[in-house]
Amino acid sequence: MNTELIPSEKIDQLFRELNQLAQQLGMPIYAVGGYVRDRLLGLPVGGEIDFVIVGDAMRFARALEDALPVRQMVTYPRFGTFMTRYKGFNLEFVNARSESYQSDSRNPKTEQADLETDLSRRDFTINAMALDISEEHFGRIIDRYNGQEDLKQRLIRTPLEPKTTFYDDPLRMMRAIRFATRFGFDIAADTWAGIREHADRLAIITVERIQDEFNKILMTEKPSVGLNLLDQAGLLRQFLPEAESMKGVEQRKDFHHKDVFYHTLEVIDNVARSGGRLELRLAALFHDIAKPRTKRFEEGTGWTFHGHEVVGERMSKAIMRKLKYSNEAIAFVAKLVRMHLRPMALVSDEVTDAAIRRLLFLSGNDFHELMLLCRADITSKNPKRVKKYIGNYDRLMLKIEEVEERDRLRNFQPPVDGREIMEVFKIKPGKMIGRAKKFLEEAILDGIVPNEHDACLAYLKENWERISENDEQ
Ligand code: ATP
Ligand code: MG
Repeated sequence: MNTELIPSEKIDQLFRELNQLAQQLGMPIYAVGGYVRDRLLGLPVGGEIDFVIVGDAMRFARALEDALPVRQMVTYPRFGTFMTRYKGFNLEFVNARSESYQSDSRNPKTEQADLETDLSRRDFTINAMALDISEEHFGRIIDRYNGQEDLKQRLIRTPLEPKTTFYDDPLRMMRAIRFATRFGFDIAADTWAGIREHADRLAIITVERIQDEFNKILMTEKPSVGLNLLDQAGLLRQFLPEAESMKGVEQRKDFHHKDVFYHTLEVIDNVARSGGRLELRLAALFHDIAKPRTKRFEEGTGWTFHGHEVVGERMSKAIMRKLKYSNEAIAFVAKLVRMHLRPMALVSDEVTDAAIRRLLFLSGNDFHELMLLCRADITSKNPKRVKKYIGNYDRLMLKIEEVEERDRLRNFQPPVDGREIMEVFKIKPGKMIGRAKKFLEEAILDGIVPNEHDACLAYLKENWERISENDEQ
């Protein structure tokens, strides 16, 4: 690992400008947190830099606005923090502070303090280092808690006693797991013991903060590492007890060592490897969530999970609502959970064009991601089986491409719209229009009529009597 500082002209220039201002105001300023850590790790800088100001941060904010063309300044005077954009950087400033916590709340009382006190209230030693950007000591690392040593040892460790750090802000337990997962670090033994002991206290954290931290864990390169740690720490059951229930549920008779929980982790890793976005990773997380509830033993067949995709759709909606995911994310995940068995059902040689059209029509714009999920769902340890399943999907894709090319069905829009139906058949707005469209849609999907305007209109005319048969209008 490279623990040398990486010189970067642009950042150094920024530091010089900020330091000049700090000197005029007589308020020392330091870069802290993730920037210092990532720089020591030799990682690229993401454009987000945190600073700590020893003094009145609000006065610094006003002076900064006068001195430099910063943009989008947002200040939180009550918390002594502000953020702003400058030369493509997102900069966050906070005045050096002490924090004191009440037992029932995450919102601390803060007071201005010195740098050392400020570093002690940070979550981990590797995040509790400051970089001196003054002219005299430029590049000096202030490291009271041996963060550099822990970077070398690849350890996540709290600066204070774990009890204090985690009791004050229990979200830090999830942050420990996020950093361990992201960097492939271990969690120091006493820190880990502290997490296990205080896992219950996650209950005082708002669901928004939990969701945000959980998303970051899911977006790491190998989310299974973090999900396993969340599980072992007793944190997962605090906000996602349904995931824990997947443990110990046997997949099928011939794979008695693989339960649904571990299968699910593998599927998420597979999706992550293909670069899947957050919502696709969530779909992977939830695709088999209803297996524990739908598990039945059938004589002659073994364990079955009939309807787990339908029950799973309902469950994932309810869980995601509770965790306050957006309606858009919920709709996407629900749809993929509901449809995740469909492609597999179409791999036989006798599959009809009509069945393929239905898959394309129902999955719409999400078709590509549905197929990514299905491929990720192949977690057999038997290479022959894996090869067979992958081959099945490859052949299915060829057929799908054929049908698609013929029909242009992916973004299906009925070629005859409601306005035209009203004009041609001289009817007023009402149920009949919907009925006619549905009739047409079914005919197109069944391949009775091609997906073209003239043919469709002719087909509607031919069948108008049937369509309007039971209409009371
Ligand atoms: P990332 O690369 O994900 O931005 P980061 O370490 O910069 O990681 P931030 O959430 O941006 O994390 O926070 C910046 C710094 O503020 C951290 O490095 C840490 O020192 C401190 N910090 C942030 N959140 C907490 C917290 N909940 N408890 C204690 N310190 C925190
Ligand atoms: Mg950061």
